[in-house]
Amino acid sequence: MELKIAIQKSGRLHDGSLQLLRECGIKVSNGNNQLRVKASNFPLEVFFLRDDDIPEYVQDGVADIGFAGENVVAERNKTVALEEKLEFAKCRLSIAVPKNGEIHSVKNLEGKRIATSYPHLLSEYLKKQNIKASIHEISGSVEIAPKIGLADAICDLVSSGSTLFSNELEELETILQSEAVLISNKNLEDEKRNLLNQLLFRIRSVKKAINNKYVLLNAPNDKLEVIFKLLPGMRSPTVLPLAESGWSSVHSVISETDFWNIIEQLKEAGAQGILIVPIEKMII
Ligand code: ATP
Ligand code: ZN
Repeated sequence: MELKIAIQKSGRLHDGSLQLLRECGIKVSNGNNQLRVKASNFPLEVFFLRDDDIPEYVQDGVADIGFAGENVVAERNKTVALEEKLEFAKCRLSIAVPKNGEIHSVKNLEGKRIATSYPHLLSEYLKKQNIKASIHEISGSVEIAPKIGLADAICDLVSSGSTLFSNELEELETILQSEAVLISNKNLEDEKRNLLNQLLFRIRSVKKAINNKYVLLNAPNDKLEVIFKLLPGMRSPTVLPLAESGWSSVHSVISETDFWNIIEQLKEAGAQGILIVPIEKMII
């Protein structure tokens, strides 16, 4: 039995999806012109599809699981289970308007024309805000709609904002935050659920590793007490004596979020020769 996974054929999710599978130790070729390939060392069959179709394929059981953007999952509104956030392809769905135009707030959208590839999410949002506007669904290059007179505003994905900037648009309101997620069919048979659990275990180990760093440092023994307090670690830090008497080497794991903060404090506490090493996998 194989678990069938749908990933994007080409585009912004493609590389991140394959990279994550590889970091999970699963070998797949990149699917050049192939609809599906089998992994060589895990019971996984990979289907390469348009990202918009992935939620439906997973709902219908053509694929058991899929990697897709939360934006697409929410827009398509299919019956699938959300298993795990994957921390790549981060972006937001925002309403943007021409700079120095007449729209300054969401209220000003009343009666206006908004171009988007996300008609479902936009209409839900407008309904909640009690605003009536006409939605023009277009499938690509939404950002040029105001300039060519097709719309007064747009609702589109933004990451850095550079596309908006170069089209003289500014963000008015974010309606959804998004990143890649793992979705699954709601009625997976037991054997497939087991395979999915194995995959999830690997994905979580990869995510933890990315979010943590291995730290090695040297410190005089009389400073160790203070240094230990700064290091959360998995349990307690590893301490090894250095050849120079009165000094020790301390090893621990710290999370990316408080990384710089802790490094500063370690230096102040007397730590020297601090080395930061990436972690490949982290099993807890
Ligand atoms: P397909 O041919 O598969 O339909 P597409 O053109 O619809 O591809 P892409 O532009 O490749 O889609 O984007 C795929 C996903 O990547 C988006 O749905 C979104 O989740 C994510 N993404 C991340 N950053 C951005 C961004 N700056 N602009 C657009 N999408 C982004
Ligand atoms: Zn698409």
